[in-house]
Amino acid sequence: MTTLTLGDVTLTRVIEIGRSTFPTTSMLPESSAERIARHRSWLEPFWDADTGDLGSRIGSWIVRTPEHLVLIDTGVGNDKNRASNPLWHRRSGGFLDDLAAAGVAPEDVDFVVITHMHVDHVGWNTRLVNGRWMPTFPNARYVFPGEEWAFWKHEAERGGDEYGCIDDSVLPIVAAGQAMLVDDRHAIDRWLRFEPSVGHTPGHVSVRLTTTAGDAVFSGDLMHRVVQVAEPEWSSRFCYDGKQAAVTRREFVERHADTGTLVLAAHFPRPGVIVREGDGLRFRPTA
Ligand SMILES: [Zn+2]
Repeated sequence: MTTLTLGDVTLTRVIEIGRSTFPTTSMLPESSAERIARHRSWLEPFWDADTGDLGSRIGSWIVRTPEHLVLIDTGVGNDKNRASNPLWHRRSGGFLDDLAAAGVAPEDVDFVVITHMHVDHVGWNTRLVNGRWMPTFPNARYVFPGEEWAFWKHEAERGGDEYGCIDDSVLPIVAAGQAMLVDDRHAIDRWLRFEPSVGHTPGHVSVRLTTTAGDAVFSGDLMHRVVQVAEPEWSSRFCYDGKQAAVTRREFVERHADTGTLVLAAHFPRPGVIVREGDGLRFRPTA
């Protein structure tokens, strides 16, 4: 478990699944093994020996600000019917035990913050109790980007919720009255606020953390693999609008280059910073 301290805020990452279902060249259809190999020297710290590929993780960040205990994105979840993906299907993982090991009981969480409503980011919103999907975090307000919710509500109604994750992981939160629908610049508290980063999904947001010791940004699925820092034109196969995702990503990597801002991309194996080297951008691990 990685824990970082930034001023008076601590960040702990809980990994639910330590690998991706999809090889990089499948996840990023415009990439190729040859073009990825050109970046091999600086990609080394992010390479997984067991898969022989760039690393990918699924999980959550626990953020403790002086005022709130916040969870950012909630992974795949247990018991969910995801028949098309064996890694995700009816899991019985130890995510809640890992939260407990990090000192977090479900009752303690003040806010659950979602960057977007894909299946691997909303799963632990709910858990199965006596055959019903109940909010996992009974005292939390779940902060949902309003545009994202509007899109997925419509998708679910027209049968476009491919995995059923809106039905089992989002609707029960709305029904329980625990959803806060906010705009894409919403401030969660004095440390955390949304900023729009659309493309991967129509209402995708990043979460900016501001502290006295520097900034961090939880960039959700604005990038999926570290190589996209250098190749921002490569969008993922799951992007709703790949062209817009590429524009958003290019702007993001340019804006953060050499700023020291900690970049916490949901699926990157390690946190890091974006640096300019020669005429290209690179990602450097910080932990
Ligand atoms: Zn994702």
